[in-house]
Amino acid sequence: MNQTKIKEIFEKMEYSPAPENKEIAMNWLKDHKFKFGLFIDGKWQKPKSGKFFKTENPANGEKLALISEADKNDINHSVSAAKKAFPKWNDLSGHKRSRYLYAIARQLQKNSRLFAVLETLDNGKTIRETRDIDIPLSIRHFYHHAGWAQVLEKEFPDYTSIGPVGQIIPWNFPLLMLAWKVAPALAAGNTVVLKPAEFTSLTALLFAEICEQIGLPQGVLNVVTGPGETGSLLVEHPDLKKIAFTGSTEVGRLIREKTAATDKKLTLELGGKSPFIVFEDSDLDSAIEGIVDAIWFNQGQVCCAGSRLLVQESVSEKIIDRLKNRMSKLRVGNPLDKSMDMGAIIAPIQKKRIEKLVEQGKKEGANVWQWTGKLSKDCKGGCYFPPTFLTNVSPASMISQTEIFGPVLVTMTFRTPSEAIMLANNSKYGLSASVWSENINQALHIAPQLKCGVVWINCTNQFDAGVGFGGYRESGFGREGGNEGMREYLKKIEPKIYTEQFRIKPPKIKKIANKNLKIDQTAKLYINGKQSRPDSGYSLNIINSDGTLAGQISHGNRKDVRNAVEAASKASDWHKSTHHLRAQILYYLAENLEMRADEFQSRITSLTGSSKRESILEFETAISRIFTYAALADKHEGLIHDPPMRGLALALNEPIGVMGIICPDENPLLGMISMLLPALAQGNTVILVPSKPFALVATDFFQILETSDVPPGVVNIITGESHELAEHLSKHENVDGIWISGTKEECETVKKNSIGNLKIIWTNDGKKIDWFDKSQSEGREWLRRAAQVKNVWIPYGE
Ligand code: NDP
Repeated sequence: MNQTKIKEIFEKMEYSPAPENKEIAMNWLKDHKFKFGLFIDGKWQKPKSGKFFKTENPANGEKLALISEADKNDINHSVSAAKKAFPKWNDLSGHKRSRYLYAIARQLQKNSRLFAVLETLDNGKTIRETRDIDIPLSIRHFYHHAGWAQVLEKEFPDYTSIGPVGQIIPWNFPLLMLAWKVAPALAAGNTVVLKPAEFTSLTALLFAEICEQIGLPQGVLNVVTGPGETGSLLVEHPDLKKIAFTGSTEVGRLIREKTAATDKKLTLELGGKSPFIVFEDSDLDSAIEGIVDAIWFNQGQVCCAGSRLLVQESVSEKIIDRLKNRMSKLRVGNPLDKSMDMGAIIAPIQKKRIEKLVEQGKKEGANVWQWTGKLSKDCKGGCYFPPTFLTNVSPASMISQTEIFGPVLVTMTFRTPSEAIMLANNSKYGLSASVWSENINQALHIAPQLKCGVVWINCTNQFDAGVGFGGYRESGFGREGGNEGMREYLKKIEPKIYTEQFRIKPPKIKKIANKNLKIDQTAKLYINGKQSRPDSGYSLNIINSDGTLAGQISHGNRKDVRNAVEAASKASDWHKSTHHLRAQILYYLAENLEMRADEFQSRITSLTGSSKRESILEFETAISRIFTYAALADKHEGLIHDPPMRGLALALNEPIGVMGIICPDENPLLGMISMLLPALAQGNTVILVPSKPFALVATDFFQILETSDVPPGVVNIITGESHELAEHLSKHENVDGIWISGTKEECETVKKNSIGNLKIIWTNDGKKIDWFDKSQSEGREWLRRAAQVKNVWIPYGE
């Protein structure tokens, strides 16, 4: 090279094309004659519908292959294959299952280049990302879960697999989402029917081929391709014991509704509009690179994309200028070119959606700044959208609130840390957040206050198989990865005999005249630490087991529920108090209850008709249960993960938030204590609906709460008709979670009603719980249910 040429290169500093050879993937497609069947029961099958649809390369619009469209018959076939394969697979030792998972990991590793090129062709994401992120992380997932399979029995005693599970995944990380779902499911001993997204089926089909090659037993993994209806058929299939879904919040809601009347386990990993918070003391150059990764990684088609940039006012101008400068240097184009930063959008329909939302943003008054570079010739026919940055947006605007799922960033400013937290939490979603500050004290102070499942400090988009991932609020529930991810594919071993739960019919009133009846025995409601009259002004008779009138309770209504939710929301400092203080208050509660043992025991006897001995036993067990949760309040601690980075991830057990608890009828004191105490110990605030026929036990409890230093609003008790109050609670948008021990019908209704803000629900599925049996009704399992895990990633080093 002569000197002038070298000088020219230095002056222009332009990249030359660096294309990855696509031959390896094209040959694979050719070997399959560009047409694929369904993978069911270990064999490749033609779709019963005889229908195929085409899959295209988003980078140039070229057809890649024809994919089978599974119909109802195929779904039935695949589910019965998974059902048939389940007992044998489940009976294998953990070690044997581990060897299969290990073999999958090895085989993925050996074929990693083929997977990377195929994923880039099918999805349009850059080869740099598929090669360095999607495929290595998928491999890591199988290695990590081979480990869980090996140690399953020791690590999860008292737990067992679920059965055949249905898994539905999106197009943004096709192989990675498969790995996140298939690896834990198989490690736990379940069998799988997986539906990939219509746009991106190819790597799932190649994965099925790998499972065939390593000799995975027939029916353990089934891959059924097809449109959304195929997924819907899976959701509706009665023989699947769990649905795991990643995708839009809209479809997530539909799935919640469809599974409400079943006892299917459900995890939903949904959308987000995640904040990226930059404080004035952050390393601004690093933050700029962080922003590039947060929003332009995978063309912004990432559920946890940092799409809302919140910048401290003093550095806002600097950040905006530097970011625009950095954007102008981004390389957008052929995703197979190894030096590209951004590739193609998945499909024209998605591109149109992005365009429409940006246009709407403009109409709202936003200033739009876009990458103006030129696409190369080989992008012709492809689907590209420029990196886009919107300023002058308000926090409540559509563009700040809607998940765009494209390379579009909006920015807003804040002055103080508390304003940053308020802005960050001003979203219906709660998937992730990124916090940038060189002051680690500040960053660690902010992290727990952000309502989301993952916080990255001075980094972004970090993932690992050993660290749980998942959201709060409308970003879904359940976690993938790590210990908590494994639990989503396991269930507690249940006692063999279960009886159906029913509501107790109170006896008919025999004689109104009750010698003990005082002038007014109408118990009030307990809201915000005070006894208050019900909004309706109505009361309900409570009858003793001998037919005498025991007293009256208030008939709570929607307005009372609203007041109680408001009080519970305001009492969120309960969570911020130390674990030690919470434990002390719970012990004090037991102490004060014990002082009124006779009163409570005789109340239980007269209301339920149980013998004196039985009432004493119930009372003493309740006291012991309070002690258990006081004891565990400072022991349900999180974990420190050591992911493969220079850093740590702290898995924190955070409370769900405001919880509605609907109590069973049997053992009115013990049932109520067993549900209330773990929620309180974990830092939740509660609206408690006691059993109606025995509600006087709960109203007697008001005074125990009043004298035990339980802060106002932490426990609110609303009496009345359980099903009415359950409905109001489950429809309330500020209630974050509901526990119900009720009839099958009540449980179904609560699940259905909760789709508005996708509450975290636990129900007894209409099965009676033995409140004296500790294995069912006491311990860490209840604390786990009362918590959601937040993972805070903290890198270290210079
Ligand atoms: P969807 O939620 O529609 O798709 C996710 C998966 O569910 C796909 O496999 C899809 O099949 C399947 N599916 C679609 N409808 C149903 C149904 N009724 N029952 C069961 N399964 C169903 O997302 P889209 O791909 O359509 O994208 C739409 C929007 O969703 C995006 O613009 C983005 O905002 C958001 N999204 C969010 C993701 C996330 O991870 N948070 C991931 C993907 C999308 P098929 O692909 O065949 O339609």
